[in-house]
Amino acid sequence: MSDFPTYRGRMEYVCLGCGARFDISELHYTCPSCGGVFLLTDTTFDSLKKTPGAKWREIFDRRAASKNPALRGVFRFYELMAPVLEEEDILYLGEGNTPIVTSAPGLRAELGLNTAYKNDGQNPSASFKDRGMACAFSFLKHLIRTKGWTDVLAICASTGDTSAAAALYASYVGGVIKSAVILPAGKVTPQQLAQPLGSGAVVLEVPGVFDDCMKVVEYLADNYRVALLNSKNAWRILGQESYAFEVAQWYDWDMAGKCVFMPIGNAGNITAVMGGFLKLHALGIIDALPRVFGVQSHHADPVYRYYAADAGTREFKPVAVRASVAQAAMIGNPVSFPRVKYFAEKFEAIGGERSFQVIQVTEQQIMDSMIQANRHGHIACTQGGECLAGAKRAKELGLVSPKETLVLDATAHHLKFIGFQDMYFSNTFPPEFGVTPDPALSNRPEQVITAEDKKRLDAPDYVRQAAQNVVARLGLARK
Ligand SMILES: *Cc1c(COP(=O)(O)O)cnc(C)c1O
Ligand SMILES: [Zn+2]
Repeated sequence: MSDFPTYRGRMEYVCLGCGARFDISELHYTCPSCGGVFLLTDTTFDSLKKTPGAKWREIFDRRAASKNPALRGVFRFYELMAPVLEEEDILYLGEGNTPIVTSAPGLRAELGLNTAYKNDGQNPSASFKDRGMACAFSFLKHLIRTKGWTDVLAICASTGDTSAAAALYASYVGGVIKSAVILPAGKVTPQQLAQPLGSGAVVLEVPGVFDDCMKVVEYLADNYRVALLNSKNAWRILGQESYAFEVAQWYDWDMAGKCVFMPIGNAGNITAVMGGFLKLHALGIIDALPRVFGVQSHHADPVYRYYAADAGTREFKPVAVRASVAQAAMIGNPVSFPRVKYFAEKFEAIGGERSFQVIQVTEQQIMDSMIQANRHGHIACTQGGECLAGAKRAKELGLVSPKETLVLDATAHHLKFIGFQDMYFSNTFPPEFGVTPDPALSNRPEQVITAEDKKRLDAPDYVRQAAQNVVARLGLARK
């Protein structure tokens, strides 16, 4: 007998600009009446409150042992996510359930903080974007099945993790889904190109920058049957809520004294995480909200600037971004800013004024922090380094204490952004980043024996000489 949940909700798009509601039987990205962004809402959500929080905890804990692939990933929390999908719609490529790794004692001592990283780089395309794609593509499969569509183009404008994730899920589904990514010509590195090319996506280049690509993609979405997979797609936000559910479950649903640190780029992820915790709270699954800290680089900090102003005088202004090592968060006019505002108000209404904050850090602090974390066994990307830099800054500002647990989001795998580590170790940062490597943190390979020695010496002598050089370099004592 299937252990797939029986509850079905009724979902609608709700515009955060004008409040208009739209049916989910068509794909919508921005409000046709006012241009606002959407959230998805289950209009029967309140009926879930009839089940006590303790019972939900038991259900989700039991489901964690399910062998059903449809419940192994982000849909473990089916009722809170997209309870309009059927079991056959749900895609599972191994996303979600990423570990939370408590920082080693050495790092915690250096920091004077109780930190842990949630390794979202351990998702299939090596970033958290897979959470949202699993949900968005499952819904797309549902639409294709129920409407009998014979072709649909999955498309996104991106130079990084969004296109990698979209191309991966599209290539798995195949069939009537074709996949394309639109990139700014000459503005992407070979690494950034490798993932969508490897997944077989059609990779199209447009002269200009990311925003030019985005405009082309939006024109296509307005006029053709294409599934837009940028974070305007509210199904992606929904899938990313799973991050919050997993954090709560990992700590046995006790969020008191927990602080969650997230980088903010387009602000989709922090929106999803706040939305997710609020759902858990509404159902009595958690009694307390954690505190949520957004982190931005001083080179791309529009959300920080907004919240740094006094409550009465806040005004949102896009900023011109400068070069940032937190490249995936280098966005001056975040699409999801209205969503952040919406959830931040709700968060503060329950958790108090200090329950949502935005911290600003420097490029130098981001790089130093990433390398410091990884020298203690973490696998943080630059955005993960940004979270640790944010935690240190929050401590300086007296906002966090060693009594709390700080959960830092390593949003991608270390290796995806390895070029920045190379620049740090080889001291080749272009001046616009403003990063000066700390020699104590740099690391370079050292040659242990020369090619001439190899030619000159016979085999046993060569090995002995190389080993002697290692002994000298490391100061080894004989046993
Ligand atoms: C997309 C991305 C971000 C930024 O997330 P938003 O939802 O745009 O705020 C941060 N880190 C990584 C690795 C990303 O891929
Ligand atoms: Zn509207």
